[in-house]
Amino acid sequence: MSDIAKTCIVCPAGCLLTIRQENGEWVVSGNRCPRGKQYAIQEVTDPRRTVTATAATDSGAYPRLPLKSADPVPKDRIGAVLEAIGRLQVRLPIQAGACLLCNAANTGIDIVATRTLPPEE
Ligand code: SF4
Repeated sequence: MSDIAKTCIVCPAGCLLTIRQENGEWVVSGNRCPRGKQYAIQEVTDPRRTVTATAATDSGAYPRLPLKSADPVPKDRIGAVLEAIGRLQVRLPIQAGACLLCNAANTGIDIVATRTLPPEE
């Protein structure tokens, strides 16, 4: 297997990582700290991203509610999660941190509000 190149996105240093398999083990170089190795192995075995989006509400004053995934979502499930978010119609009021979509698209990951919005006046 040839080397895999990735830029570490864990911190602003942006280390250029090289990842390869040797005798069944992942070998990472270019990282300046252990978090880079952890990130690199996660990227090649189970890449995930935090999903951020907005959902429709029932309010004319606050028509969109910002939200995010409580944990990073497997990359191959992000489309399904976004489709589920697209079907949401949030009833206000809502508190930041409230679960809007529990176990989104059967990922085991919740989608939560990131803003408190008041009821329609
Ligand atoms: S390897 Fe460490 S220092 Fe380099 S970008 Fe990743 S987290 Fe930052």
